[in-house]
Amino acid sequence: MAFKKTIDVQAAVAIAASEAIAARTQGTFGVGGLMLDQHGNVLQSLHNNVVKDGLVFDPTAHGERQLIDWYYAERARGRDLPPPQDITIVTSLDPCCMCSGAILAGGFNVVVAAPDKASGINHDNSASFSALPPALRARAGDSFSYPAILGSSLYARPAAGAVPKSFFIGKTISEPTQALCSLVFEATSSDVMALLNSDLPPPALQDPATLPADHAIVRALKQPYPDALTYRCAPHQPDAGLAPFLLQAMARDREHGGAGDAVALLDAFGNLLLCMAGRLTQSGIRSAFMETTRAYAQLRYKLLNGATPAQRDEVRRYLGHPKDGTFVFARGPDAGAVSYMNLGAYGSTMEGPLPLENPAQLQYVLPSVPDDELAAICAAMPPLYRDVIRIRPTQVADQALVAALA
Ligand SMILES: [Zn+2]
Repeated sequence: MAFKKTIDVQAAVAIAASEAIAARTQGTFGVGGLMLDQHGNVLQSLHNNVVKDGLVFDPTAHGERQLIDWYYAERARGRDLPPPQDITIVTSLDPCCMCSGAILAGGFNVVVAAPDKASGINHDNSASFSALPPALRARAGDSFSYPAILGSSLYARPAAGAVPKSFFIGKTISEPTQALCSLVFEATSSDVMALLNSDLPPPALQDPATLPADHAIVRALKQPYPDALTYRCAPHQPDAGLAPFLLQAMARDREHGGAGDAVALLDAFGNLLLCMAGRLTQSGIRSAFMETTRAYAQLRYKLLNGATPAQRDEVRRYLGHPKDGTFVFARGPDAGAVSYMNLGAYGSTMEGPLPLENPAQLQYVLPSVPDDELAAICAAMPPLYRDVIRIRPTQVADQALVAALA
């Protein structure tokens, strides 16, 4: 792709739209995007990869998030790429909270085509970015562009947000291209959300701790995390026994350039499945939560892909949806861009209401901001996160666990 150059917003959005159609063909969210340097050269273009082969592959594999990880991976390999403030991401759909947090954490620019009233960072179409924590709003206003759509249809709009970078000669999107970006996403959204919520209900789940050590499911769990299934608590009630696992991952997080964060995933029985550190030296957005939720989705994908129907049934019985378990963050979210990305990625992992009997699915050990500030951050998020999933992190109840990490 490196030989391609786009100096018109319209030409760039047309590439994003064709990626979105490829995503729709793959059966995932119909969203695509590309990354441009300061001259308009196309560095990379790709599409959403949340679903592959009819299975959930990675709930964090949105276009913008993948482009940013691609950028950091290329730099880590020694490629001389311009700094993020000279890079423009062009996306067919308004970035969700995860992708907005990732864009702001890195300092990238973004040009947005279609709106997303449920999950978009500009869901209210005001370009005020009131869905973001206050300290991030001005930065979004300086880096998120919503080009004009000239015409009189329902797709028409005036330009809003930041002015696109100066290499763009044409700064508008045509109505048909904008309509295409909207319609391709709308055609896929409900089916993919349903697939992300098609797992067995808790009464149908079985305890993976009862499986023999050489079972394929146990081996798959121990591959990303050798300590899987070696700790267990009462369901949804992490206690001080989890502390050594979190502390070990927190130390690894520091070795990998992080501030000492770690995230554990407990299943519906209270079994420890994963406890991951971030990999911030690889990429500024590979936080502990991103690593944990992705690792769980991908180990399920690997087990399910190519399996017989009987094997698939077994995997689904022993490895349920994370919404029925508990994510335990060593450090609670703060008001920064990486935490906002994590909250958004948590929303992308759920993609539907939390179970009524498990409203405290997201727990943290050490608070980073006062509880009322965290409540305000969550209450300002776009409707999917605020009204449907109802994201509301709570501190773990066990004071011995808090003391062990403090
Ligand atoms: Zn996204």
